[in-house]
Amino acid sequence: TSERPSTCIGAANRSALSDFLTIRFEQDGEYPPLLVLDLDHFKSVNDSHGHAVGDEVLRTVAGRILGSIRSLDLVARLGGDEFAIVLPRLDAEGAYHVARRLVTTIAAPMQVEGRSLVQTVSIGGALGTGVVTETDLLVRADRALYVAKEQGRNGYTFFDRSIHQAVLRRLALEGELRTAIDESQLEVNFQPEFSTVDGRIVGVEALLRWNHPSRGRISADEFISVAEQTGTIDELGEYVVSEACRLFVEICDRVGDQDLLLRVNISAREFARPELASTVRSALKASGLAPTRLCLEMTETTLMEAPEVALETFAQLQAIGVKSAIDDFGTGYSSLSYLKQFPVDCVKIDRTFVEDLVTDPHSRAIVEAILRLAEAMELESVAEGVESDEQLKILSELGCRRAQGFLVAG
Ligand code: C2E
Ligand code: CA
Ligand code: CA
Repeated sequence: TSERPSTCIGAANRSALSDFLTIRFEQDGEYPPLLVLDLDHFKSVNDSHGHAVGDEVLRTVAGRILGSIRSLDLVARLGGDEFAIVLPRLDAEGAYHVARRLVTTIAAPMQVEGRSLVQTVSIGGALGTGVVTETDLLVRADRALYVAKEQGRNGYTFFDRSIHQAVLRRLALEGELRTAIDESQLEVNFQPEFSTVDGRIVGVEALLRWNHPSRGRISADEFISVAEQTGTIDELGEYVVSEACRLFVEICDRVGDQDLLLRVNISAREFARPELASTVRSALKASGLAPTRLCLEMTETTLMEAPEVALETFAQLQAIGVKSAIDDFGTGYSSLSYLKQFPVDCVKIDRTFVEDLVTDPHSRAIVEAILRLAEAMELESVAEGVESDEQLKILSELGCRRAQGFLVAG
């Protein structure tokens, strides 16, 4: 986004924010509540409507912020689409109230260049009580913002004890992940994928586990994102691909089945690395696994946000002959254009749809639509997270032939 002078939207900047916080701390003996506000998916506004519209949206949001606060409050622009709002002499209730009001006020439709647009925001808040540095206050609000976004955006969250605990745990895991690799605490597990027609195992998905010496088992959900952010994923990813291939070949030899498929998850950062194709090539070579028996899983978000280099990587992978799948299908941008851009072989129906399959007709309709789409495009489809016989029954009625989940194995 183009950096415009902050005056054009009537907001102060970072250094004014800092000065203001310092003065409040000196006068009131503690920091005031701070909100950090971020526009949801603002990039897509710029991308689809152009910068002129984007700037107008920003101005409108800024205007709505200014209209929702008191004259003694301060609004500062932190970055392209991020604002900080300081609320001196307001208690917790008051701060929650302002955050709530901002979320609803800003989400009202706005008229921009003859179009009606809706721009929502996410807000992270921190109260000043017990906070002794400005950085700490900002970090707290930032963590809360992160949680607000994780919880689906268009809402607000305040920093609290549970977020504090989560931050501490995350920081610790960040440091310990290095040791985990060096001391072989990571382990590749296989979850079977079975046929809904005859119950036979048709493949496995490699899922990484961390057997932590003092914290116990940690699921990939928790540490993969840490690994992505710290860059450890590069090393982790190489380990998973080669170790999964090696173990898988061992298992297939033992059970005497040479038709099973191995699925391995690839995260966004791994996919963006030009080395991915050569990592895969070496893993296949070392294990002797045929390329067509390996399928790499990537999420919609990964594909959508893939940089130019990823297109090249994808082509290289196709040339090697490995298969590819879209993971968590239906939860991301769900734009069909990337199905053309990245001609994958398989879609995996996200477990949130399977979860509600029995009770929610909408989930059933979504699953049905995905299955029809896959069929029309001649893609394979697999349902994830199948936990009950009832779910399995509906899935096979709808024509889904492959499934995985706790019903058969964790
Ligand atoms: P995913 O690819 O969607 O993997 C499926 C997740 O669902 C796994 O969680 C699995 O344990 C869980 N699951 C399987 N069956 C059921 C079920 O019946 N019910 C429920 N509620 N859950 C089920 P896990 O192992 O924690 O992995 C979470 C995510 O972390 C994975 O989501 C995947 O995106 C990522 N991940 C896991 N292993 C790797 C890896 O080796 N490399 C990369 N890059 N990502 C990985
Ligand atoms: Ca997966
Ligand atoms: Ca999934």
